[in-house]
Amino acid sequence: MNPPPASETPYPWRMEDLVSLCARRGIVFPSSEIYGGINGFWDYGPLGVELKNNLKALWWQRVVRERDDVEGIDTAIICHPRTWEASGHVEHFSDPMVDCRACKKRFRADQLEDAGKCSAREGSSEHDFTPARHFNLMLRTSIGASEDAAATAYLRAETCQAIFNDMKRVRETSRQKVPFGIAQIGKAFRNEINPRNFTFRSREFEQAELEFFVHPSEREKWFEHWLDERVAFHRELGFGDDRLRVRPHQPTELAHYAKAAADIEFLFPFGWQEIEGVHDRGDWDLRRHSEYSSKDLAYTDEETKERYLPMVIETSVGVDRTCLALLANGYAEETLAEGDVRTVLRLPPAIAPIKAAVLPLSKKLAEPAHRLERELRRHFNTFYDESGNIGRRYRRQDEVGTPFCVTIDFESETDGKVTIRHRDAMSQDRISIDSVLPWLRERLETGK
Ligand code: ATP
Repeated sequence: MNPPPASETPYPWRMEDLVSLCARRGIVFPSSEIYGGINGFWDYGPLGVELKNNLKALWWQRVVRERDDVEGIDTAIICHPRTWEASGHVEHFSDPMVDCRACKKRFRADQLEDAGKCSAREGSSEHDFTPARHFNLMLRTSIGASEDAAATAYLRAETCQAIFNDMKRVRETSRQKVPFGIAQIGKAFRNEINPRNFTFRSREFEQAELEFFVHPSEREKWFEHWLDERVAFHRELGFGDDRLRVRPHQPTELAHYAKAAADIEFLFPFGWQEIEGVHDRGDWDLRRHSEYSSKDLAYTDEETKERYLPMVIETSVGVDRTCLALLANGYAEETLAEGDVRTVLRLPPAIAPIKAAVLPLSKKLAEPAHRLERELRRHFNTFYDESGNIGRRYRRQDEVGTPFCVTIDFESETDGKVTIRHRDAMSQDRISIDSVLPWLRERLETGK
């Protein structure tokens, strides 16, 4: 992959336009909006939840269901607090933070290039920073009636630690042998100092993680395998060479226990940023959890009788960041004619919140249109709309990424046919009403 220079942001629209579309059409908007929102928290509306669920379903399909060597789980958000001592989060999961004494704003000390000018200092626009302090990013809560230190628990900062906690039981119950993996999708929480760039850096977000356990002699092979698999997944989402790249970590960036790591980065309107990390975590996690729990998590190879702690190859993708990448990658404002601009969200059909909209040309055609829509909705998410002129109805579907609109007109009653309009080319096909379901299924499955 040949990445374009980092300075280039090939988006001919403004981020505010995408954010405003998302709010206007109920895709994603600030949480608790009626109270003015809460920084770093976002709600997915009716269309957003479909988009996000489609993305998670595709990940689950590729990473779990299509493989014999991966099991899926769904663990509690709150783990035993010792988990986070073992993982190193209690001690080390922090960012350096500075405050401006004048404007009272707080920044990450390693991201001061984004701090801008100070609004409170007269005669100077520079901030007046305090020395950097470390700030632990884990969100705390307390369990039970007392609020003393013994009751402190943490909302998980990543989904993978619970996978390590459960590794032995899952392997035994599913009768897996090394190499094998455990995957889960779920919420993670980080008290980010400076949430920003829409949903990109949030305080509550979802991760889809795989921990793949391998023999120490095979860690490089499996690292390469999973990196390739994950890049192929992002390609399937439609991310081209110009917007997707792999950035291997420099030896100085690696965690002390890691042998190799790479970020999969996407070119957002605000620059190249990580959407997924692929890491060789060695035996760090299992060793630490063995130590802290006093449970032996080693594995015995039944054939060779060799006993060892498996090494872990991890793939960790942000669901919200990938949704944002999908929205940015798909969003376009197309000038069709003088003064006629169409907003279109070119999402892959598998990810589009609505797969097909059924649009009768007149309310008088509601009966056959409803009949068709009821049939289609048993198979995928559909939408019915009989109000307003047809052009406007098409545009409303274009801007939320609906790949197909099915129009029933007065001729449909006599010739038994309907018109299907394609979102991207805006071309139309006339096909028999009985073949709409197989026609759509074929295209939705192949993504064409
Ligand atoms: P960053 O350096 O951007 O903070 P990270 O390296 O700490 O990310 P990981 O701990 O490797 O991230 O988490 C794996 C994935 O989880 C990331 O690639 C990202 O997609 C997602 N993720 C991490 N932090 C956030 C966040 N605050 N908001 C949304 N997604 C996040």
